[in-house]
Amino acid sequence: MSAVRSALLMLGRETARIVLHAPCVICAGELPWRERKASCCRSCWASLPVIRGGKCKSCAMPWSASSAEFRCIACLDDPLPVDWTDAWGHYRGSLERLLHAFKFERHDFLDAPLAGLLHDLLLARQDMDFDGVVAVPMHRSKLRKRGYNQAELLAAALARRIGVRCEPSLLTRRIERQPQSSLPRAQRASNVRGAFAAQPGVADRSLLLVDDICTTGETLRACASVLRRAGAKRVCAIVVAKA
Ligand SMILES: [Zn+2]
Ligand SMILES: [Zn+2]
Repeated sequence: MSAVRSALLMLGRETARIVLHAPCVICAGELPWRERKASCCRSCWASLPVIRGGKCKSCAMPWSASSAEFRCIACLDDPLPVDWTDAWGHYRGSLERLLHAFKFERHDFLDAPLAGLLHDLLLARQDMDFDGVVAVPMHRSKLRKRGYNQAELLAAALARRIGVRCEPSLLTRRIERQPQSSLPRAQRASNVRGAFAAQPGVADRSLLLVDDICTTGETLRACASVLRRAGAKRVCAIVVAKA
């Protein structure tokens, strides 16, 4: 890294991105000056793969069903312990690329625009009946390594938009196991079992659980179960992308 680049990074990543060449993370085209604080250009943002059809009420699996009460085959058998789960887009292509930058490339400034997508989902559902927003927590050791928990940034930005308190301390991660994405589906449930703990203050609350990505839903299931066992009267879950 050049001396100029490191000096600019010292001033802050946003400053560095404004001054240095900043390509769109999706199409690699150079961003106009005004958009240097963003990760992608306007046209890539506008063509992110939004889920247009129906979704499973329990796990947000995209499905060609029009009923808001539809549940997928897996959830008919074993639903998530939530009132509903919703997802904005498909976890693929440009949205996968963008979330990778948000999570691993320090594009933490994506929190507000991505929270805007989640806000749109809540407006479409006409459900704001929450008194707390909670993120899927990250273990302390991983937080030290990465510097931020992208789910918590997202939860805080969404909470600000809807005027509800963000309460990251209500849910903690006790054990850092293997990343869910590295495991076959069959092992994902046991990998997160016992990984989360609810802290005092959950009883009788209506909580919105936030994460960036949902794959099999086992992480959301583990978090929601812990919150329900601690007495939450309602838990709903919302994610940017569903695999
Ligand atoms: Zn682009
Ligand atoms: Zn389902």
